[in-house]
Amino acid sequence: MAKVSVGLRGWRFDEEEIFTDDEELKPLDEIPEEPRERLVRLVGLVEEPCDVCYLEHGEAEVHRCNQAEIVYGEPNGEVLLCPEHEPDLIYWFREEGGSEHAGDLDFGDRFHEWVAAGNEAPDGYAPVEHVEEDPDGLPDLPDQQDIQERVEQGFEGDRIDILELAGESDDKEEDAADKLSEDDLAESGVDLSTDYPSNR
Ligand SMILES: [Zn+2]
Repeated sequence: MAKVSVGLRGWRFDEEEIFTDDEELKPLDEIPEEPRERLVRLVGLVEEPCDVCYLEHGEAEVHRCNQAEIVYGEPNGEVLLCPEHEPDLIYWFREEGGSEHAGDLDFGDRFHEWVAAGNEAPDGYAPVEHVEEDPDGLPDLPDQQDIQERVEQGFEGDRIDILELAGESDDKEEDAADKLSEDDLAESGVDLSTDYPSNR
């Protein structure tokens, strides 16, 4: 069963659960609840800063934070990381009891506490080896940008459902046009256009 990441590295999806045989994103109501929850959550996370950077610099200097490229943990209890700070999470997970919180919503909080207490991975802690695709996976998986655009298109096509799923449903939104405008995307906090050049 081929595994793919979408938007951020870390969370993995069974390809056939979220894509059709034509490698199109399935309608969201055809995606099982657990991967759907992560997909919806991802859209709100792709432009967020790395958690460790953020703990270092704070909101006042959020511009100094690296944008997150990696996500671990459970939706709404996740940890966002830049490549520079990924070893901290891996070290905490493997050596400092972090694995005990795997699958729990407090996974993120416990890691944040560990970081806030001044802990970090020792210098030169082995970087993670990434297996980007399942060895048995399809050779022609769409690249991550393609996948991201498909997620974005899925959002445009299923706007009301998505907003409800994300808990951001709003009565006056129900009357809006079927297609999201760029302004709507920005207002709803799911604007992905800046980092994913579109050829639409
Ligand atoms: Zn960072």
